[in-house]
Amino acid sequence: MRQYATGSPELMKAMNKRLILNTIRQNGPVSRVDIAKETGLHPSTVTRIVTSLRAEGVVREEGRGQNHIGRKPIYLDLVPDALHFGGIALEANGISAVVANLQADIKMRAHWTLQGKSKEAIVDQMYRAVDWLLDEAQQRYVRLTSVGIAVHGIADSARGVMRFPPAFGWKDLPLADILAQRYSIPVRVGNNSTALTLGEHWFGRGRRVENMVAVKIGHGIGSGIMLNGTLLHGNDFSAGEIGHTTVAFDGPLCHCGNYGCLESVASVPAILNQARVRLKQGSASTLMDMVDGDPDALSLGHINQAALAGDAMTQQVLEEAAVYIGVAVANCINLLNPSLVLLGGDIYDTLPFLLPTIKAVAASRTLEIPRKRVTIEDVALRHDAVAIGAVVFVLQDIFRVPSAQNVSV
Ligand SMILES: [Zn+2]
Repeated sequence: MRQYATGSPELMKAMNKRLILNTIRQNGPVSRVDIAKETGLHPSTVTRIVTSLRAEGVVREEGRGQNHIGRKPIYLDLVPDALHFGGIALEANGISAVVANLQADIKMRAHWTLQGKSKEAIVDQMYRAVDWLLDEAQQRYVRLTSVGIAVHGIADSARGVMRFPPAFGWKDLPLADILAQRYSIPVRVGNNSTALTLGEHWFGRGRRVENMVAVKIGHGIGSGIMLNGTLLHGNDFSAGEIGHTTVAFDGPLCHCGNYGCLESVASVPAILNQARVRLKQGSASTLMDMVDGDPDALSLGHINQAALAGDAMTQQVLEEAAVYIGVAVANCINLLNPSLVLLGGDIYDTLPFLLPTIKAVAASRTLEIPRKRVTIEDVALRHDAVAIGAVVFVLQDIFRVPSAQNVSV
C-alpha cells in the first residue's frame, strides 16, 4: 500500500523516515529501489534517509542479490540488536518480564508470583519488575529504549491507567504516571489481551493479517479485535471483553454480576471448579490420585496430565468448556468476519485437548461466507505472547508513522 507524506517539512521528514523504517521492517531484506517503489518516495530521498538510518546503526546493508541487468542491488535490513525494550505482563496471579530486541528475540526473562493485590502492593511489584529490567540490561551493556506493560483488566492505553482489574478489586491506578515519577524511561500501559493480539500481529501467526481476533484464556477471558488493520478500543477501552458475553443463558453467576458469561464456564478457574465439583461428588478420575485426595489442590497442570492419560472425567470437563468457547468464537466470526481467530493465555498447554471441539462447534454455528476463509489456531508465541505484545506497545512508537491520526496502543 502506498502512503504519501504531506504537511510541514519537519513532519514530512519524520514521516518519510518512519515510512522507510517500516518498509524495511516489513519487507527486509529489501533494496533501495524497492523501498522507493513501495513508499512512493523519490529514490534520492530514500538514499539520504537510509544513509542516516545506517549512521544511527538501526539499518544495515547485507548480501548482494541477483539482478538480470547485471548490476547487483544491495539489500537493507534492520539491525535487530540496535535497540532493546522491556516488556512486562501483569496478570491476575503473576508478573512476567522480558528484555527483547527489535525483532522480539527475548534476551532475558523473569517471572514472579504476585504477592498482594492492593494498589500499593501492585505498584511495589511493578517497581521491582522495572528495576530488574534496568539492572539486567545494564549488566549486559544494553540500554532499554522504553518499557511496555500489558495489564490484566480494562486499561486506558491513551493515559496509561489501569481502569478496572477485576482480580485486584480496585479501580483507576494511573500506572504510567506513577512509573514516570520514578523512571526517566518512557512507559506504555495497555490491556493484556490487546498485547497478545499485537504480539501475534507483529511476530506470530497474525503477520500481514488485517482482520483477526485473539482470545486470551486464563484467570479471566479477554480478546483483542483487529479489523482492517486497526485495533478496536471502543468508547472506554473495554472492547474485546468476550469473557462477559453470554454463552449459557441460565448458566452460573459470574463475578461481574451476570449469569452464564463465557468466563464463568470456560476460564481456568471455571474449569478447575468443574473438575473439583465432580471429584467431590465422587466421580471416578485419576485426578484424585494426583492431588492426594484433596480436590482443592487441583491445578491446570493436573488437568493437562489427566487429559493426556485419557481420563474420561477430565476430558468431559474440557469438552464442555470447549463447547462454550466454540460458541463464543462462532459469535466473533459471525459478528466480525475475521480471517484468523487465535487462542492463547494460561490455557495454551491445554489447547490440544480443546481445539478440535472449538473448531467443530464454531464451524457448526457460523455463516458459510465468513466460515470459508477463517482459520482457528493457537498462538505462535506460546506463553510469551503477552510479554512480547507489551514490547510491541513500545515498538509501535518507534515505527509509527507520525500523522494526524496517531492511535495509541
Ligand atoms: Zn461476567
